[in-house]
Amino acid sequence: MTFTLPELSFATDALEPFMDKETVEIHHGKHHAGYTTKLNAALEAEGLSEVNLEQEVFPQISNMPRAIQTNAGQFWNHSFFWESLAPIGQEPSEMVMNALTASFGGYDEFVAEFTKHASTVFGSGWAWLCKKQDGSLMVMSTLNHENPLMENEVIEYGNLTPLLVIDVWEHAYYLKYQNRRPEFIAAFLQIVNWEKVAERMA
Ligand code: MN
Repeated sequence: MTFTLPELSFATDALEPFMDKETVEIHHGKHHAGYTTKLNAALEAEGLSEVNLEQEVFPQISNMPRAIQTNAGQFWNHSFFWESLAPIGQEPSEMVMNALTASFGGYDEFVAEFTKHASTVFGSGWAWLCKKQDGSLMVMSTLNHENPLMENEVIEYGNLTPLLVIDVWEHAYYLKYQNRRPEFIAAFLQIVNWEKVAERMA
């Protein structure tokens, strides 16, 4: 087994009521676990094992078989997503707040931009806060399994450092929020792991 399902850093009910226990259990224990198993199978089928997703797979993903493209993206995106979350109570550090202010005008303006991108992903996908090469921050979205480290995004935006991601696939919120994605986005913003964002930004 090349990749293993990462453990959550919080209890499955620790994000209540913003993200319910059942959703976390199914999302992590079934969806993310499934992508992990399928990624390992797809790599094995190609005779690949010790691959570095960030350096060897995503920058040249169009050369990879479809099963590796989708499952590598989904495995990595979900790992990044769980690390983006923490029980309510964190606030952006001064460094993070200064960066949000410099790029968006302030925290509320960042929230508006992030919410706009996350709400308008058509179908399944992700919205990301990223740091650009010039140090400024931007919000972007990707479809399906894609992420900012993949070659198309690099061609369009240059090298990006992802800082935060929200999963807006329906499986991320449908049990609790049904079709009300904007409510889920607002809830997500209450349980951001800002400490992790700062770490990724440094
Ligand atoms: Mn998901």
